[in-house]
Amino acid sequence: TVKTTTHEFQAETKKLLDIVINSLYTERDVFIRELISNAADALEKFRHESITATDVFDAHVPLEINISLDDKNHTFTITDTGIGMTRHELEANLGTIAHSGSNTFLSQLAEAAKKDVSLIGQFGVGFYAAFMAGSRVLVQSRSWDGSEGHEWASDGTGSFTISEMPGLHRGTRIIVDLKEDAHDYAQKWKVESIIKQYSSFVSFPIKLEGEIVNTVQALWTRNKAEISEQEYVDFYKFVGNAIDEPMYRLHFSADAPLAINALLFVPKENFEVMGFGRMESGVNLYCQRILIDQHSENILPEWLRFLKGVVDSEDLPLNISRQALQDNALVGKLRRVITKRFLKYLEEEAKRDADAYLGFWKTFGIFLKEGATSSFEYRNDLGKLLRFESSKSEAGKPVGLADYLLRMNPDQQEIYYINGTSRAAIEAGPYVEMFRKKDIEIIYTMEPIDDFVLSHLGEFEGKKLVSADRADLAIPETEEEKKAEEDQEAGLDSTRTEALLAWLKQTLADGVQDVIVSKRLVDAPAMIVNPDSHMTSSMQRVLAASRF
Ligand code: ADP
Ligand code: MG
Repeated sequence: TVKTTTHEFQAETKKLLDIVINSLYTERDVFIRELISNAADALEKFRHESITATDVFDAHVPLEINISLDDKNHTFTITDTGIGMTRHELEANLGTIAHSGSNTFLSQLAEAAKKDVSLIGQFGVGFYAAFMAGSRVLVQSRSWDGSEGHEWASDGTGSFTISEMPGLHRGTRIIVDLKEDAHDYAQKWKVESIIKQYSSFVSFPIKLEGEIVNTVQALWTRNKAEISEQEYVDFYKFVGNAIDEPMYRLHFSADAPLAINALLFVPKENFEVMGFGRMESGVNLYCQRILIDQHSENILPEWLRFLKGVVDSEDLPLNISRQALQDNALVGKLRRVITKRFLKYLEEEAKRDADAYLGFWKTFGIFLKEGATSSFEYRNDLGKLLRFESSKSEAGKPVGLADYLLRMNPDQQEIYYINGTSRAAIEAGPYVEMFRKKDIEIIYTMEPIDDFVLSHLGEFEGKKLVSADRADLAIPETEEEKKAEEDQEAGLDSTRTEALLAWLKQTLADGVQDVIVSKRLVDAPAMIVNPDSHMTSSMQRVLAASRF
């Protein structure tokens, strides 16, 4: 008697399965990619664990993926010799969805499924993609701990069963009973072309009907000169689970101070602003071509989470556990070196093709701003990469702080900026009058976060960044200007001025701290300035709005 238990899918999983089964037939090929990617993950996990583990079940079996097809019975079968799953893992991993915020993710996915199927490819529906082609799916698995094997079975509608299954080898076999309109996934030519398209970078042999169909090689360790554009693009799609082409690519190697091979890509789209929630890191950490940490949170700062790719360092201890990565000093050093190198690469790109860089800035600038407000150590590098409109830029064509410095008057000591909702609103306001008159460039910060960014930055190339709504500005004056002001002051009736100031203070009462005579006004009769030297008025508004 074989012990069988029946389990309901978690509500979110049901929702996902419903989308997978009912609305995703055009992208069906991806089920093969998802199953191969899970097999490869399982093999990577096993390889990493087996470096330190002493007691490994089935230690001798080779690490590989086998795919076999049965055209008569219409089945697609994929077997890996990876880490396998215990009974409990089968139930937990193939019954629930691990994504955080999966409910929002699912509503987005349902929306996307209606209008743009290609988007779904970006996220992957994981294991459940098997139900795109399968009317029934069997998963037979035995964990590397050697505990008894089990079979998971479901038709994807509401529940699944788990039964004991003695005699299995280590790893996982997935048998997909193909739906009537999906029978061609049991044809070798079809499956081979899909593997070639999606999975050519899997770092274990993939055997199709006994024949190896991929070339196992780590692209990032190869000589740049020998890698074609197409190979890079294919690798990006593989590692980023992407269907677009990358916007930027950085492939670099270093021997000192650390041995590094890194291949990083900037995608074309920013999916975070498209409403898909916070991205997880897209960079995988390897040591001597062995995957140590997938979607590594440690190898780059959080604000570079939009990058995809790999980092490989031979200097890391191979047996390091994922938990130990966080506090590892070497990982910290690696992170600094790679971050610096990537920011320098962006600076070079900005010089090489300013328009292309502006495209990058529009899509991903928000991440660099996040970096500028959170990572003190990259302040200078990030300062060079920021772009803002200014009184001397064209509308819609932001400029860098370095451009500002080049145009700066020789006796000017500070870099000025002013916040406003739009270019027109800023230019109509009183703050910019005097800057215009004196021909001093002023940066327009039009996003609420901008003032936080510039105030965090503090200075750029030795010049202080100062908000023009500050009460105390060190604006240089020419001899003529000084003279003109003295004459003007002499011409004023000081008693009447005092009386006006006193009346204004009394009338405005608690609304103001002080009322003084200004030298900064040109046409406007009065303006409000901010006595706080730490927070601009825009920052105060943002903070007030977030208080409740
Ligand atoms: P993801 O791969 O993004 O975690 P999936 O839906 O593809 O999501 O897979 C869910 C989980 O099921 C995996 O995280 C893994 O723990 C487990 N799993 C799936 N396929 C295998 C396999 N071939 N071997 C071992 N575990 C697997
Ligand atoms: Mg997966």
